[in-house]
Amino acid sequence: GSGAGQGADASRRCRARISSKTLSHSLREPTSPSMTTLSIHNPATGALITDVPADDAASVATKAARARAAQPAWAATPLTARKACIVRFRAAVVAQLEVLAATMTSETGKPIKMSRNELNGLLGRIDFFLSEVDAQLVTQTVFSDGGMTEQIQPTPLGVIANISAWNYPWFVGCNVIIPALLTGNVVLYKPSEFATLTGLAIARLLHDSGVPQDVFIAVIGGGDVGAALQAQEIDGLFFTGSYATGAKIAQTLGPRMVKLQLELGGKDPTYVCEDADPRLAAESLADGAMYNTGQSCCSVERIYVHESIYDAFVAAFVETVAGFKVGDPASEDTYIGAITRAPQLAVLEAQVADARARGARLLAGGTRLKGPGNWFAPTVFADVNHTMELMREESFGPIIGIQKVTSDVEAVKLMNDTRYGLTAGVYTPNEARARGLLAQVNAGSVFWNCCDRVSPRLPGCGQGDSGVGLTLSTY
Ligand code: NAD
Repeated sequence: GSGAGQGADASRRCRARISSKTLSHSLREPTSPSMTTLSIHNPATGALITDVPADDAASVATKAARARAAQPAWAATPLTARKACIVRFRAAVVAQLEVLAATMTSETGKPIKMSRNELNGLLGRIDFFLSEVDAQLVTQTVFSDGGMTEQIQPTPLGVIANISAWNYPWFVGCNVIIPALLTGNVVLYKPSEFATLTGLAIARLLHDSGVPQDVFIAVIGGGDVGAALQAQEIDGLFFTGSYATGAKIAQTLGPRMVKLQLELGGKDPTYVCEDADPRLAAESLADGAMYNTGQSCCSVERIYVHESIYDAFVAAFVETVAGFKVGDPASEDTYIGAITRAPQLAVLEAQVADARARGARLLAGGTRLKGPGNWFAPTVFADVNHTMELMREESFGPIIGIQKVTSDVEAVKLMNDTRYGLTAGVYTPNEARARGLLAQVNAGSVFWNCCDRVSPRLPGCGQGDSGVGLTLSTY
């Protein structure tokens, strides 16, 4: 899920810090005796923020048993009471927004305004779930002829495991957590090891809002703890993360017939037609490619531009990127923050080296920036092609390739030349042309004259290696 246009951009200048009260409260979460610890670092400085108790296989099993035991009573709790918990949770997010934003920024390197945007955007998602849940839980009579009645009755799955990513931890966590809790499921939630303080904050606020301790349980740790979680007796596993991890999980869970939803990565393309305004398209797509330091599941990752406006588009794109302020994620005017995971720097460097070796034209950036912390310069390549890793594999950073095309046919062919299929877009003033082009593109969501956008009303669904299943919407 992404940020552009997700919520009001609060402009209050308040650099809240994680209060010791917040932390000491959060640290109580894992409760079993044999604990390891997880060190939380600030990716913008490399500094240790804190160590938190983490789970191991034994404590995960204990938590799963607690969740299983708690599920029937939660399912039997009236929907009005479950909804009241979520209404209080929403109010707590509003009341604590500054400290929650600062926590997320400290552990992920997300620019503080974008952290606020995510939290404000979350409110709309919660409102959507609250407004839809009653209708979704109604038993439908789909046939009745006097002698025979056929009904569809929604029932909870039971125990849900949610293994989550760090890039939009509130969005991707709550996309699963809120509907699962509202509909009578209990949740074992493993936040990413790169967004653990946020995950613990979600748990604290839910518990403070009346969700019983055993109905929502945070499971803390890295991939080994995620693997321990998936080994438990669960009724559904909802995963957001990379293709590589998603594929491993699918392989393990397949024979167990556990309901599985995978929200994975992408290499999302956009085509700018010759009748589009090159400057407006460039400004919009630079934001789509670089928002959240390019670490969005539906970041624009490939751009194709018609040859007749290619030079104008590239010039406007480079100019826009030059205006992006790189710096301290806690500063109000920062647009490009830190790279959350240090190993991604090597991935970005390799894509740059490969693109240069194959003849791409480097127009901005191309290197790490001086530390401490994980920093990469906003990077723009022109004259790229599909022999380059930059145009084939998810970059997940502030880097983009812009390729010249000579026709709509060529653009569609290139957009579909990928193993992924999360989102795709077209820029043209001509709606019929946009619809015609987008109908030919293999992607779960398509955009006309916009990009990098997620709505709670629309189903998020990947095709190909971007995943299986749906998130958000009434589906
Ligand atoms: P990741 O796959 O490295 O980690 C995701 C989660 O899986 C983490 O909580 C991690 O601890 C856990 N994990 C790791 N190994 C595991 C294992 N063997 N078994 C069980 N769990 C394991 O991904 P990430 O770096 O956190 O997230 C970035 C990726 O997520 C990108 O590819 C991005 O595109 C994708 N993403 C997709 C969406 C979407 O809606 N489609 C949204 C956000 C992010």
